[in-house]
Amino acid sequence: MTAVATRRVLSHHLARRRSLVVPVDAEARRQVVPVTCYEVDKLPPVDVAFYERARSMMRKIDQVVVPPREGRCFQVPAGHLFRIVCAEGPQVGDLNLWCSDDLGERSEKFYASKTRQLQATHLSTGDRLWSGFPYLRPIATITHDTLAWYRGDDFGGGVHDVIGSRCDPYTNAVIRGEDYHHCCHSNLSVALSTSRTFASIVATDDPVQAARLAEPYVHDVLNVFMCTGFDRNTRKYFMKSTPARRADFLEFFAEIPLLGALSACPGGDCGASHSDDATQCYPLLVEVFETSALNEWRGPPPVLTSVALLAIFNIIPKLRGVFQVSAYSRTHGLRPGRLPPH
Ligand SMILES: [Zn+2]
Repeated sequence: MTAVATRRVLSHHLARRRSLVVPVDAEARRQVVPVTCYEVDKLPPVDVAFYERARSMMRKIDQVVVPPREGRCFQVPAGHLFRIVCAEGPQVGDLNLWCSDDLGERSEKFYASKTRQLQATHLSTGDRLWSGFPYLRPIATITHDTLAWYRGDDFGGGVHDVIGSRCDPYTNAVIRGEDYHHCCHSNLSVALSTSRTFASIVATDDPVQAARLAEPYVHDVLNVFMCTGFDRNTRKYFMKSTPARRADFLEFFAEIPLLGALSACPGGDCGASHSDDATQCYPLLVEVFETSALNEWRGPPPVLTSVALLAIFNIIPKLRGVFQVSAYSRTHGLRPGRLPPH
């Protein structure tokens, strides 16, 4: 049976069961051709030659081992590179990134869903990781992916996704009715709460309180090495065993100073389950590199979020290109002293 015929039978079945009204032109509406949502060709270009030069002149300066079912933080100065490596075997990692100069109330951090829209559902070499509002700028660029060969599979799956979130104890409690304490969400919360950067803004000696205070900073992740997709028929999120093997890595260039947190998911290769202690898990390795190819590299301009300054840029738009990262004025159509129109 063709896909169209299957849908007709399904629509008829649903209409009978739920008293749905299926319009006579339902199939014609489905056949409307989609358009790309964003004009991504207008995004800042990726200077491939520069990143290749940076890679050819890199030297390892630091590393952090993330034990199985745990999380760890790491620092990457702007203009440095870092790799996430499957150190001993197939292992999925959940990655959070923050601007290490700005971990506070208006923390600049990785924005997975906007990255999904601007780049793709699954990331690889040349893709960029974007930060949230009001910043919206590339905070890291993927410079190498040993799994770039995978591209996609017959199930609709791909590697390194930004379509899932992270395994967490809340969903686990709803579905299984039990507490599990080593989900990636908890691992990331605990890792952040014990980092020096977090300790510099939050003063508490109570580890439980520190983890609770760190939890709101944890955000949707880049699922490193995870193989995921949506089932074409049910549209449900699926995972399958990662194609990653020992020594596979994903490598990034830090466009801004980064504080990272990485969890070695309790799902291991995420081929069968997550949120339990039964699955084989391996450590992940984070390696940090400096590069001597930064002569012509200019980091992004400073982020200005002052509404007063942005108002000046509104009057003199040319200044925006000099100082402002985000092109948006942040007025939301409002004018000082005037009430909204409703
Ligand atoms: Zn996980």
